[in-house]
Amino acid sequence: MEADWALAERLRQPPPLFVLNFLAGPGIMNRKLVVAIGGLAVSFCVAPQAQAWGCRGHQTVALIAEKHLTPEARQLVDKLLSENPIDPELKRYCGNASPDLMVDASTWADDVRNERRNGPWHYIDIPRGKHKGSLEEYCGADGCVTRAIEEQRAILKDRFADAAKRAEAVRYLVHFVGDMHQPLHVINNGDKGGNCAPVKYLHHQPLPNPLPPEREDYSPNLHQIWDTEVVERDMEVSNPHRYADDLDERFRAEGAKWEATAFDVEKWAWEVHERAEADVYGALAAKIPVEPDVKPKGCSDNNHIGRRMFEKHLRADEAYQDRAAKAAETGLAEAGVRLAMILNDAAKTNP
Ligand SMILES: [Zn+2]
Repeated sequence: MEADWALAERLRQPPPLFVLNFLAGPGIMNRKLVVAIGGLAVSFCVAPQAQAWGCRGHQTVALIAEKHLTPEARQLVDKLLSENPIDPELKRYCGNASPDLMVDASTWADDVRNERRNGPWHYIDIPRGKHKGSLEEYCGADGCVTRAIEEQRAILKDRFADAAKRAEAVRYLVHFVGDMHQPLHVINNGDKGGNCAPVKYLHHQPLPNPLPPEREDYSPNLHQIWDTEVVERDMEVSNPHRYADDLDERFRAEGAKWEATAFDVEKWAWEVHERAEADVYGALAAKIPVEPDVKPKGCSDNNHIGRRMFEKHLRADEAYQDRAAKAAETGLAEAGVRLAMILNDAAKTNP
């Protein structure tokens, strides 16, 4: 589970500076290259930090959630975030200070990932092939996304907790509920959540990253396209505000059902895990067997998983993109509604 939000997210490897080799150069890390091909805007950028849904995906989740907040939750969130602002010195990967505090909050967890050592909180390695049970056994000593959501929820619900900590809890929740709905953040097939599965995305062949070749690390890869490219292409020329309006409208009926169901973080994670099986791995023309339950440090581990996957010549064509976009849209809409459920619950009893 890493790429734009992935590669560095798990702290499993030093972040490649950039995906497309020819772009390697000074000062490129924070740049996003948009390559227009056949009318498509396709971006390939491996961020220095994990971004999960990419900047715009996380911002979309925050904007959908805002539409579902109760007045009490809106007030609590606004008060905590405005009275305990983000350190103005912090380098913001997604740009500085949106006037919308929840949008601004949505990418903060990635910005403090190194200093807070919160990398493992952004995902959970549920082995491919598992379908039910407690997630605790997959949550390591350093934590995982489902546990982080529960921990931060408890801090937010504690009205006697330090206000700065409660503000951070809001920021973590806005981000992690989004992360948990990126399918490759809740599955692992011995491939670092798809980071070691090179894939031809539309016209783009996977190329080795500018790392020693023995790293067997390529871009695009499955994790990367699900982090960012699938959503970016689905958004086209839209922006998170319009995209959030559109998704909220289109998922209105489902949203009402999600809201009517008691929240259960583990159950949500299992749902997204099943989506990963069907729409990430299952939708590929080349069948990928279930790998042993291992957590490679690099793509040359697990018996050269990077090279083995490269040799399968995986392709994500237009049909794959269309199906992936539907799954991503569902995940973003669910994340928005469920984030609001968590914040509304916290505000109900803990102003
Ligand atoms: Zn993340």
